[in-house]
Amino acid sequence: MIENSEAFAAPLRLRLDGEALVANWRTLSKLSGSGATGAAVKADGYGVGASEVSRRLWEAGCRDFFVAHWSEAVALSKVIPAQNIAVLNGIQLQDIPAIRALDAVPVLNTPLQIEHWKTSGGGRCHVMLDSGINRLGIGPGQISSDLFNGLDIDMLCSHLASADEDVPQNDAQLRLFTDMSTGIACRRRSFANSAGIVLGKDFHFDLTRPGLSLYGGIARAELAGNIRQVVFPSARVLQIREHEAGAPIGYNATYRTTGSKRIATLAIGYADGYFRAFSAIGYVEIGGEKHPVLGRVSMDLVTVDITHVQDVAEGDWIDIGFELHEASYATGTSQYELLTGIGSRADRVWS
Ligand SMILES: *Cc1c(COP(=O)(O)O)cnc(C)c1O
Repeated sequence: MIENSEAFAAPLRLRLDGEALVANWRTLSKLSGSGATGAAVKADGYGVGASEVSRRLWEAGCRDFFVAHWSEAVALSKVIPAQNIAVLNGIQLQDIPAIRALDAVPVLNTPLQIEHWKTSGGGRCHVMLDSGINRLGIGPGQISSDLFNGLDIDMLCSHLASADEDVPQNDAQLRLFTDMSTGIACRRRSFANSAGIVLGKDFHFDLTRPGLSLYGGIARAELAGNIRQVVFPSARVLQIREHEAGAPIGYNATYRTTGSKRIATLAIGYADGYFRAFSAIGYVEIGGEKHPVLGRVSMDLVTVDITHVQDVAEGDWIDIGFELHEASYATGTSQYELLTGIGSRADRVWS
């Protein structure tokens, strides 16, 4: 009896370019000036694989890793030291014993969390100030003279809401973060995400926290040409059929063949993160040429036009167009969602 799913070769794989990942981190480090550069690896490294990503970035010299949940910190602590992992979503009272046993670093977001941290023994922590995203962090009106007394703050940080746009909010947040953080004892201050790094040296402080652009996302136009694609999906051809004009293709017949067509059905669908938004918009690449998706993307399958390609056969691997900036623009889905949407059925192959 076969009990191991790995006995079967997955018909879908993601080639993950480890060299491009490290090159992107180095590029973002350079752009971060004299400050250190961390890595946001929450949501399983934006879908790419937090352990594999972190192992590579650790070797490249990265020492500050950011996850959202404590469960993510537990998994990651098998790969890098827990003291180098920060947990952005803060602490819940009932988790404190486990948090102290793990020894990853909490990012304290509220006065109540600060209180819990102090009364449970204190120790090294990070603190999030809210300079205007109004989501997580201590707001300007919540700072009192004794709030931070006795707290061992390593990183005092804040998060930009609109760094991917040229709006006055960026400078307003910078001013407020600078004001709020002045006079609070800490070892380091951290402000910029991927897009924030590009806003210039005033935004860099002691540590930057890129996520998206590590994985090939173009957080701002200035990064195009400097950031390399990391994620390359490819899927096997499951079937090839010839159709005369007028054949309805896929769910709801949103496409009908306009002339005689050769259509390949590939093993990737929206359950794999190849969203329905790619219907009639996405493309595959064969021999450097682009060939369009026809009709709807379904859960496990997509149909593509290979009328003008001769040498494609059942079982072949076909590269799926997945350049994030372009795919985001074409589908109206954010680059973040495209990355984190990548499903678990694909074999991940690092190169
Ligand atoms: C996700 C996140 C980052 C990384 O942001 P990118 O836009 O992906 O570079 C940095 N800081 C915080 C607090 C985050 O939540």
